[in-house]
Amino acid sequence: MTVNLLDFDLEGLAAFCEKLGEKRFRAVQLFRWIHQKGASRFDEMTDLARSLREKLPSVCSITPLPVLSRQDSADGTIKWLFDVGDGNAVETVFIPEDDRGTLCVSSQAGCAVGCRFCSTGHQGFSRNLTTGEILAQLWYAEHYLRQHLNSKERVITNVVMMGMGEPLQNYGALVPALRVMLDDHAYGLSRRRVTVSTSGVVPMIDRLAKDCPVALAVSLHAPNDALRDGLVPLNRKYPIAELLDACLRYLPAAPRDFITFEYCMLDGVNDQPEHAQQLLALLRGHGGTGVPCKLNLIPFNPFPDSGLKCSPRSTVLRFGQMLNEGGIVTTVRKTRGDDIDAACGQLAGDVLDRTQAARRMAQLRAAGVHPVKVVPSLPQTTHQEDSA
Ligand code: SAH
Ligand code: SF4
Repeated sequence: MTVNLLDFDLEGLAAFCEKLGEKRFRAVQLFRWIHQKGASRFDEMTDLARSLREKLPSVCSITPLPVLSRQDSADGTIKWLFDVGDGNAVETVFIPEDDRGTLCVSSQAGCAVGCRFCSTGHQGFSRNLTTGEILAQLWYAEHYLRQHLNSKERVITNVVMMGMGEPLQNYGALVPALRVMLDDHAYGLSRRRVTVSTSGVVPMIDRLAKDCPVALAVSLHAPNDALRDGLVPLNRKYPIAELLDACLRYLPAAPRDFITFEYCMLDGVNDQPEHAQQLLALLRGHGGTGVPCKLNLIPFNPFPDSGLKCSPRSTVLRFGQMLNEGGIVTTVRKTRGDDIDAACGQLAGDVLDRTQAARRMAQLRAAGVHPVKVVPSLPQTTHQEDSA
């Protein structure tokens, strides 16, 4: 099997080029051809020396993932199913909105965490995706969309690691993939626009802060350990207090001054007023000052044999209102791509009344809770940052 160049971040590609006796700048050229122009053949790369163009096919390839299917939703959402071999497939979802285009990317075939409300969790774990397989989803979607929309500009402005799998349980492959997403010679996304979502792998949250701090979303789903133990089994290993401590440690390195918490609304399970009260006390009180955060309420997307139901809309709204009134910016996620079953944790959102919550964020900042940010130099984009 030859080397797949989609597996490399720029450093990796430079090392590979050096092994071939090629200068480092060749790696930048190759990298741009692959990620910026979507090239998959070396003979297209007209500014490479002909001898190199002829040599490369015998030692490496640019191998995308085979597409099993594409479904287009009436609302513009697109879902692809990619074949990752041995009967496994992963999903990638594009969600267009007025001011951005978000790609929801998978990190594993299946997932070992086994959350009760998650159909990926119910499938069990097959294997980690490679860096190349994570990037192949972005590479394919970006260049498909550019062609399809006849755009020379970037179409995907945000990436969320909220597809199948627990990204922080595939850390070794994840970090180089994130680096490529951020690299100005590749996708040039700002750190604020790349989000890793985790069920709470505490030691890896700390490592991510050092290795590649991007926006962090934490799937909380419950306000106390007894309930969370039953919904997110990883909680037995890393209980809520440890998880929130890790969030506080992450913030100084994070590109945003808050953590996003995800909360899947399950009828009669975690959606009652007492849960909202507990959640408020937790998020506002943890560590004495609370955790600077925003909360996303995700309507549960039902699947066969889950034994769970989505909370009624009125319950979701009441829950969100309690949180907002208590000072936590809370967004109810709209479901997108319903007709193609394109559930993804990060969907377009409606912010409920945010005045109280904005006041609370200001109070936290005034109290010095807002940590001093150490943001490594950011690739600038011309796109507006989102406000929600
Ligand atoms: N493993 C990571 C990222 C993938 S799941 C994590 O758990 O964060 C992305 C998001 O979708 C998570 O917040 C997850 O809790 C949520 N999710 C999973 N199954 C869901 C379902 N059936 N309905 C609604 N949200 C779901
Ligand atoms: Fe895995 Fe996330 Fe699904 Fe839990 S919610 S089983 S961590 S993919």
